[in-house]
Amino acid sequence: GNEAILSMQEKRESNARSYPRKFPLAIKRAEGVHVTDMDGKQYMDCLAGAGTLALGHNHMVVREAIENVMQSYLPLHTLDITTPVKEAFIDEVFASLPQSFAEKAKIHFCGPTGADAVEAALKLVKTATGDRAILSFQGGYHGSTHGTMSVSGTIGPKKNVHALVPDAHFLPYPYEYRCPFGMGKEGHRISSTYIENLLDNPEGGIVKPAGIIVEVVQGEGGSVPAPIEWLKELRRITKERDIPLIIDEVQTGIGRTGKMFAFEHAGIEPDVLVLSKAIGGSLPLSVVVYDRSLDQWEPGTHIGTFRGNQMAMAAGQAALRFINEKHLPEYALEMGTYLIEQLKSIQERVSSIGDVRGRGLMIGVEIINPMKQPNGIGSYPAYTDLAKKIQQECFSRGLILEVGGRFDTVIRLLPPLIISKEQIDEVLQRFSEAITSAEA
Ligand code: PMP
Repeated sequence: GNEAILSMQEKRESNARSYPRKFPLAIKRAEGVHVTDMDGKQYMDCLAGAGTLALGHNHMVVREAIENVMQSYLPLHTLDITTPVKEAFIDEVFASLPQSFAEKAKIHFCGPTGADAVEAALKLVKTATGDRAILSFQGGYHGSTHGTMSVSGTIGPKKNVHALVPDAHFLPYPYEYRCPFGMGKEGHRISSTYIENLLDNPEGGIVKPAGIIVEVVQGEGGSVPAPIEWLKELRRITKERDIPLIIDEVQTGIGRTGKMFAFEHAGIEPDVLVLSKAIGGSLPLSVVVYDRSLDQWEPGTHIGTFRGNQMAMAAGQAALRFINEKHLPEYALEMGTYLIEQLKSIQERVSSIGDVRGRGLMIGVEIINPMKQPNGIGSYPAYTDLAKKIQQECFSRGLILEVGGRFDTVIRLLPPLIISKEQIDEVLQRFSEAITSAEA
């Protein structure tokens, strides 16, 4: 049963493991929105591989695609020598991109993780521009390798890893609930003016960076959507100065936010697009798709053995096709809007929810301590212990959800895009009971 496996895990696995501590279960079976543990207890999975499982666990189209590869004796591994599976995957990715971007884009297959693709993106813009600084954002998350950790804003995990990659600079993200420049339009305007000023003023020390990397909705940073006008400003500012804009859609991509890609909400386009997680239809895969004018790196600048697993490409292509055919981005927007609305009505009933926000099915509920004094801009202090307690109360009610954000106080909901309205109601019911019980 669960207990036996968990005690072996405790004995043999690393201290750096993270999710198993929050969710002490061993998963035996998984289907759709549900996972079942060794003792037969069923959970609703609103973590879904941190947004990887767009179609939920073990979706038919994904299983069939993998089985087809097995049956047709296609090679399972080729380094990056091409195959019909790979060409079909590229076709599907290009057909999913906005046409104007697809027409000028090239794709590069990276190692199987999001972090590896971010590494590629950073090297791509450095080689193309000859510049060295990378600008990123406070609260941003781009991975856990040395390079990606260096450009991630989250302080916690890097405080004991010394001598990270130099020349990373952090800009304030327009996190409306706790924006250093104040909330609403005025805050966004000051934030973008600040960036413009920093880029044009030699006193800032970073006159021309090699690139700016941004998440359209910060994921690990607490499901924080950047305001649309701010995104448009960021695009204008970078374009005018010829600074490549890297949009990291590892978590937001493939329908999650209610559009195939989150940048489409703002009507902008990246110079470099980073994709992983859902792009492999549950299997490990990552790519960068970029403006061909940047394609100046030499062969060998970004390599590695496992780039483009055939089964992941087949699964990814099948998942992408299904998501396009079934209009799942629109569906995710509709379900996300409903979920946010219902969470806001829970917010009215309880005292510890400071903010409910999101775009599509990428949602954050910020847990605060209303017993303490609000800070300067009127938001209450974060309440880490209570957020953890709510997460535990949810877990014991059979609901798996993530806690993230800068102070570990944002309950994050990233359910599979195929979640039904009835299942959302069930999630809400369990969450509502959990928060009432945690507050008591
Ligand atoms: N970028 C973003 C926006 C992410 O959310 C993540 C993973 N949570 C990564 C990069 C890194 O991906 P991976 O964990 O596959 O390395």
